[in-house]
Amino acid sequence: MTEQISKLFKNLEKNKMHPIFAETKEDAKQIVKDMLFDGCVITSGGSMSLVECGIKELLEDKRYNFMDRSRPGITPEEQQECFKASIGADFFFCSTNAVTEKGELLNVDGFANRISSIAFGPKKVVMIVGVNKIVPDLKAAFLRVKKVAAPKNCVRLNIDNPCAKLGHCVSLLNNPNPDFADGCQKDTRICCDYLVSALQRQKDRITVILVNEELGY
Ligand code: SF4
Repeated sequence: MTEQISKLFKNLEKNKMHPIFAETKEDAKQIVKDMLFDGCVITSGGSMSLVECGIKELLEDKRYNFMDRSRPGITPEEQQECFKASIGADFFFCSTNAVTEKGELLNVDGFANRISSIAFGPKKVVMIVGVNKIVPDLKAAFLRVKKVAAPKNCVRLNIDNPCAKLGHCVSLLNNPNPDFADGCQKDTRICCDYLVSALQRQKDRITVILVNEELGY
């Protein structure tokens, strides 16, 4: 474990979150497998990191009650049921847009369904986080969203927002320090709501599995 990761882990613990180190994607999958129990209710946010680690596939095992919001053919009504089920779920799986060395998590949504589950509801929130998401502070975390996460997610989801073509938020064209509300005015904007998870009241409700590889955006 590097000095940077060791500092990050101390700060996550100080913020009452539970950090776990995984050397590889396979290790991360095994850690998750050991947490789950038969019949547990699981929901998740959209996450490439879950897919890349094979964790999405694991959650689909029939032993678990996975309310999959992105399963093929799901209707808008069924998707709403998944969002509602998240409130009482045993586990909510996702990644984070960025984690600061100070042990803060920044997440940004278009509809706030993911950040609402991170903030409140599921008994346990489990984040799968690649080392590429570690940043020094919240300022860098915000810029990571504007320069990496949002543009790549727009491309992945085939959303025609300016950042998909530019490779960064349109707000950065003439301002290196945009405000939260700067950027495109489109109805398809994906960075609308911002959640910083800092010092928690419920100890170890949030687990951060830090994988020593690059994962997701
Ligand atoms: S404000 Fe619009 S252009 Fe900027 S990052 Fe968000 S979705 Fe992309």
